[in-house]
Amino acid sequence: MTEIVMYTKTVCSYCDRAKALLESKGMTWKEINVDEQPEQRDEMIRRSDGRRTVPQIFVNGQGLGGSDDIHALDRAGKLDPILGLKEKGADTSEHHRVVILGSGPAGLTAAIYAARANLNPVVVSGNEPGGQLTITTEVENYPGYADGIQGPEMMEHFHRQAERFGTKFKSGNVDQAGLSRRPIALHQESGERLTADALIVATGASASWLGIPSETRLRNRGVSACATCDGFFFRGKPLAVVGGGDTAMEEALYLTNFATKVTVIHRRDKLRASKAMQDRALKHPKIEFTWNSAVEEVLGDEKSGVRALRLKNLKTGQESQLEVAGMFVAIGHVPNTQLFKGVLDMNELGYLRVKPGSTHTSVPGVFAAGDAADHIYRQAVTAAGTGCMAAIDAERWLASQE
Ligand code: NAP
Repeated sequence: MTEIVMYTKTVCSYCDRAKALLESKGMTWKEINVDEQPEQRDEMIRRSDGRRTVPQIFVNGQGLGGSDDIHALDRAGKLDPILGLKEKGADTSEHHRVVILGSGPAGLTAAIYAARANLNPVVVSGNEPGGQLTITTEVENYPGYADGIQGPEMMEHFHRQAERFGTKFKSGNVDQAGLSRRPIALHQESGERLTADALIVATGASASWLGIPSETRLRNRGVSACATCDGFFFRGKPLAVVGGGDTAMEEALYLTNFATKVTVIHRRDKLRASKAMQDRALKHPKIEFTWNSAVEEVLGDEKSGVRALRLKNLKTGQESQLEVAGMFVAIGHVPNTQLFKGVLDMNELGYLRVKPGSTHTSVPGVFAAGDAADHIYRQAVTAAGTGCMAAIDAERWLASQE
């Protein structure tokens, strides 16, 4: 009998992802919610070797890490044996009219339109089911939600709406795509194979990292790219946010709920964020700004987490130390298009190129929507808009082939 213990908290999109994966394998688990049982928080940090992020998952007493870790194990085919399930390898192949990669606003809007056009779409959810909105807080600028809505709740609405019209969902990722022959052939990391008459790529973008070794070493031990996921662990502590865009302002404002002080570290002396977000952050009594500066090193160790940041003033070259218990990185995103390198036309940053005014990519029958093809607007509403376009383009293209 496999015994699984999962430490979670009440609002936690990564916990939901981990649960969805385990659920898809028919597993059950004992949940310890550290919001409801705060005394268990230190126990979790101790058991997981200093990790300050949820979920933390233990199988028969063995720590597997968080959601990303169990997804990585699953991709490598190592999770099933740990869970006591049989080895993978069944080589099945299913055919679909339309397959959609990605389950953010672009993918799910494409699914709603394709399902209503009787194309019976299948959505492969990808590494971040629900996309970037599942790790944001309040969404105030999506039309139709006059009072604003929490990102995860909004994506739940999208999902339900797509499901209502018959969309089927598959968890996991596609790791190989054969676009040169018909039907299009897709291979999932789980070993499953799919074929499709048309493909909609809505794989979105993922958070960028600074790329310094100490950042990697202390990730999940005080270094994070998700304030809503991990902010809770730093109650009563000083924190830092790196970046000058809307995400950085949003993260800094959210972290004021827990931190004694939030220092925003920005490489220039002007913010890129929208005026409204800038004003809120600049006026907030708990937020301070360190301008023209870069993080040279994150100081701390795996056991006790982040202790301070070594900063460099980019104008004067002067170094300083900022004592913080956590660093939240919010410096933009990279498109999730590596799978299509050398196959679909993309720009130098990796964003897919589409025919102007449409979602047609360089390969007939393959359409692109959302952040994977948009380095300019990158809003939920524009992603949803291009998702709708992609479904209509796919429907017309399929009709033209008959
Ligand atoms: P962004 O607008 O591209 O901003 C990234 C920030 O990180 C910039 O200030 C940039 O500095 C800095 N940066 C980039 N690389 C860096 C590096 N290696 N080291 C240090 N700093 C670095 O990204 P974002 O804030 O994630 O926003 C993405 C899009 O989503 C935007 O269109 C934004 O409007 C939207 N968004 C909207 C909302 C909202 O409306 N509520 C919330 C979040 C995001 P420079 O300024 O010097 O380039």
